[in-house]
Amino acid sequence: MTDVSIRTSGRAGRITLTRPGALNAMSYDMCLQIDRALKAWAVDREVALVVIDAEGEKAFCAGGDIAEIYATGRAGDYGYGRRFWHDEYNMNARIALYPKPVVSFLQGFTMGGGVGLGCHGSHRVVGETSQIAMPECGIGLIPDVGGTRLLSRAPGRLGEYLGTTGARMGPADAIRAGFADSFVPQDAWPGLIDRLEQTGEPGLIAAATEPLAVGPLAAAADEIDRHFAGGDLATILASLNAADTEFTVAARKALLRGSPLSMACALELIRALRSGRSGIRNALRHEYRFTWRALEQADFLEGIRAAIIDKDRKPVWRYGMKEVTPETVLAMLAPLGQDELKFEGERETMKIGFIGLGNMGAPMAANLAKAGYQVTGFDLTAPCPEGVTPAEAATDAANGADVVITMLPNGKILRSVAAEIHPVMSQEAIHLDCSTVDVDSARAVAKAATEAGLMAIDAPVSGGVGGATAGTLTFMAGGPEQAFAKVVQLFEVMGQKAVHCGDAGAGQAAKICNNMILGVTMIATCEAFALADKLGLDRQKMFDVVSTSSGYSWSMNVYCPAPGVGPTSPADNDYKPGFAAALMLKDLRLSQQAAEAVDADTPLGLAATRLYETFVEVESGGEKDFSAMLPRFEKRGRPFS
Ligand code: NAD
Repeated sequence: MTDVSIRTSGRAGRITLTRPGALNAMSYDMCLQIDRALKAWAVDREVALVVIDAEGEKAFCAGGDIAEIYATGRAGDYGYGRRFWHDEYNMNARIALYPKPVVSFLQGFTMGGGVGLGCHGSHRVVGETSQIAMPECGIGLIPDVGGTRLLSRAPGRLGEYLGTTGARMGPADAIRAGFADSFVPQDAWPGLIDRLEQTGEPGLIAAATEPLAVGPLAAAADEIDRHFAGGDLATILASLNAADTEFTVAARKALLRGSPLSMACALELIRALRSGRSGIRNALRHEYRFTWRALEQADFLEGIRAAIIDKDRKPVWRYGMKEVTPETVLAMLAPLGQDELKFEGERETMKIGFIGLGNMGAPMAANLAKAGYQVTGFDLTAPCPEGVTPAEAATDAANGADVVITMLPNGKILRSVAAEIHPVMSQEAIHLDCSTVDVDSARAVAKAATEAGLMAIDAPVSGGVGGATAGTLTFMAGGPEQAFAKVVQLFEVMGQKAVHCGDAGAGQAAKICNNMILGVTMIATCEAFALADKLGLDRQKMFDVVSTSSGYSWSMNVYCPAPGVGPTSPADNDYKPGFAAALMLKDLRLSQQAAEAVDADTPLGLAATRLYETFVEVESGGEKDFSAMLPRFEKRGRPFS
């Protein structure tokens, strides 16, 4: 009998784990079957989304099936485990970077390998019985299957706490920690799955979602942040020892159960990913360095023996809490040379031409070069960043490249560069344009590329120069699925998220719609602060209320335009950009140009365009951050009073 049912139903690719007797533990064979199906559905036009669920009430998937890894490892054969992990991590990355929505329904236990299958998709649904955890340190492994990436992005020090103690999260805490997205009561799941299959519309999930009370881990956030803030394991333990609360007693007990080597390595990875580039492949590559060594050099075999084989729960770990040195941790996590984790389709020898090395293009090209790609760059004026080979002309950068990336000021320049480079590009090479341009130019360039036997993707970005430098941009892409699948690896290096929005021009459409909302909400936020000032309302109080009430937005909560209020933003740096008002004006104009072309009524978008026009062209605000609308409003009264 098969342990997983793979089929299509209506518009959905369907995966159901059918091994409830073993808590749906994922075997190597299940993993390979799932990955094959995902690959096929990624390019199947009939499949609009993938829905993953599992039979049985107790578990979505309680982990990877480690019996065979243990048996072969005990016999001195480490190859099976390494292959299993290698292929499983490829499947995890495929889900995280999937070009279509992946919806998962996570009842009961979702742990370890279950997290890798269920918690990287775009729509992760939890219910009343959901219990999500990464308990690997308890068996001498580390949180893997991309778990360190999720943990590194959890609020405060929750990631360190969950990763070392293996604590379980109920539905509310799982959503807060970023392991899930929506709570839908479980008796509504079958009906919802039916509708998803019929329509292929993941938007239906939002309508079925219900609110939840705050979870216990959210309530313990202060204690978690205090005790797990910094230092090594011994420091964390000492901090827990110094307090005597229900939380510290339980956390101490859990810490004392785990493998010190595993916990120290988990801490190192979670912190490193948080402060650096946290893409899924990056996380998996680092995790694989540990798991590749786990059978031979870590506590994994002993951990399984004690927990599952002999069940004595008395593992003899290699190191005590104070004996794990930073050198030991580094040795466990050191690169593996030719044994490094490789992702399917990844060609680090991929040749890239990069045209337009300005504020955005230079750091993006540099990140690609750092990741091992051969990058040849060209710009009319800007110098090549380190690691990028300079070309004499745009055609020299494009000639022989597998992918040519353009990062240029506007649509007119893009069209002229495209006309220059398309004739010299190799057949089936990809022109990946990341500039922000008008939808018509994006579509015209895609058409020209197709006529020249090439593929084109328009993939404008969000995240600014900071995101380009840190490799945390968001890409919104339009173009053929096969082309998107090929360049996903580049998005992964230059950014942390890429959404395939549809056919040619869809990326630009998403970008200008997003930025039209941003322009409007920033103006509304600035207006409201200026009004609040005149009503005598303290700005901090205004922030405290709005950021947690129905007026909240990214402009208020993340990029607050009032100096000294909310998280640090350009307002705290005398409104130096950030995102310059002139660039916001460019994007708003593109939105109005598009609205005009398709006869869409966008009165607020138009009003925002007019305001930024005045600010940039009459009031010399173009080089200030776009949030500098606030000091502008502060000084003004009503124009018609
Ligand atoms: P930039 O002006 O710093 O860089 C553009 C570069 O293109 C310049 O170095 C210029 O010399 C080069 N260039 C112009 N014509 C060329 C040609 N024919 N051949 C080769 N090079 C040429 O601009 P930027 O800030 O890097 O922005 C680039 C794109 O990214 C724009 O479309 C912008 O709207 C978009 N964008 C910018 C930001 C941001 O915060 N800066 C954020 C998101 C998107």
